[in-house]
Amino acid sequence: MNIHEYQSKAILKSYGVNVPEGYPAFSAEEAVENAKKLATPVVVVKAQIHAGGRGKAGGVKIAHSPEEAGAFAKELLGKTLVTKQTGPAGKVVNRLLIEAGSNIKKEYYLSFVIDRKTARVVMMGSEEGGMEIEKVAAEMPDKILKETIDPAIGLASFQATRMAYGLHLPQEAIRKATKLMGCLYNAFIGKDCSLAEINPLVLTEEGDVIALDAKLNFDDSALFRHPDIEELRDVTEEDPKELAAAKEGLNYVNLGGDVACMVNGAGLAMATVDIIKYYGGEPANFLDVGGDSTPEKIAAAFRIMLDGGQAKGIFVNIFGGINKCDLVAEGIVEAAKIISSDGKSLPVPVVVRLEGTNVERGREILKNTPIQNVIMAPTMEGGAETIVKLVKEAEQA
Ligand code: ADP
Ligand code: MG
Repeated sequence: MNIHEYQSKAILKSYGVNVPEGYPAFSAEEAVENAKKLATPVVVVKAQIHAGGRGKAGGVKIAHSPEEAGAFAKELLGKTLVTKQTGPAGKVVNRLLIEAGSNIKKEYYLSFVIDRKTARVVMMGSEEGGMEIEKVAAEMPDKILKETIDPAIGLASFQATRMAYGLHLPQEAIRKATKLMGCLYNAFIGKDCSLAEINPLVLTEEGDVIALDAKLNFDDSALFRHPDIEELRDVTEEDPKELAAAKEGLNYVNLGGDVACMVNGAGLAMATVDIIKYYGGEPANFLDVGGDSTPEKIAAAFRIMLDGGQAKGIFVNIFGGINKCDLVAEGIVEAAKIISSDGKSLPVPVVVRLEGTNVERGREILKNTPIQNVIMAPTMEGGAETIVKLVKEAEQA
């Protein structure tokens, strides 16, 4: 789960991380009020969206008076910001952060992430702050310093010190930086984060070390331990289909293509996405309906996949182990009843590959329904090939 920068900064502040003073604003009037409250010569007006790259896209504005902050707020609120991380559709700005301007001397990068290879938390730092870390990693990998953290010990002070010196921070900033690293690590662990990223971490002309940007991602599986974090969820930032699917207990990830797939089991779902790609199609989604699929659940999955016209075809790929093929077949019939006016037709072709428990009964149900455009596929390969072909034909028609 993601939250906004201003929310991340509030959490980090509670852990002792040095962040600029700032207040969220939902209107231009509030922006002016907040700028007056800050009473600093420079205030920064920052668009709050769940994506980075705002600076380059015009989402971070430097104002020299409360009035100017108000004008920037008016300009940004309601605007669709397209950054390198939002995708071409962009994200609408509904909130702002009005924050004290810093006198930046140098920008650094600092983060904590979970490294899958070592299965440990790793602290990463770089002198090349402000720019995209992926670019630094690709072009100047030796500019990224890493400290792997022993979970039983936590971030050791020698590791923080080694990082601070490795970043070539001036002597008088070393203690401030190591303290910030320790606080950031405590926040990462305390809130079950999967990422805590400060880009940039800045050294100011006054010699302070400040987290100027903050991005926290949380482990969804640990959210039950953090109702306070759950409350920060901004549903306007999330994919409406993914939200609807979560409510139905479906594991759904929107992938942006037009070949929808409904599968049971995460492994088979991944393989299905792969095989659609292999035959030249673009998967619309990853969808694992799970093992206890009732006809209602299958119908809900169809509704979500077809909503908005994104899917031009559906590939149902079920291996009935715990799932029963006849229930899945009933679900498809049920879905057709709900979705179509006459209960006989679905708006897009559906290719169904069923295998496993009660498969004969399942096939029988589908054979005997009056629903049109349901095609039975004997194999997974054949099914994938057929649905990709049908979607391509639909595009050309
Ligand atoms: P993003 O990562 O989305 O581009 P940042 O919060 O990193 O957004 O801001 C982009 C740049 O704007 C920073 O690298 C920094 O140079 C400048 N900036 C951001 N906040 C402040 C601030 N409070 N004072 C001065 N400059 C700032
Ligand atoms: Mg940033």
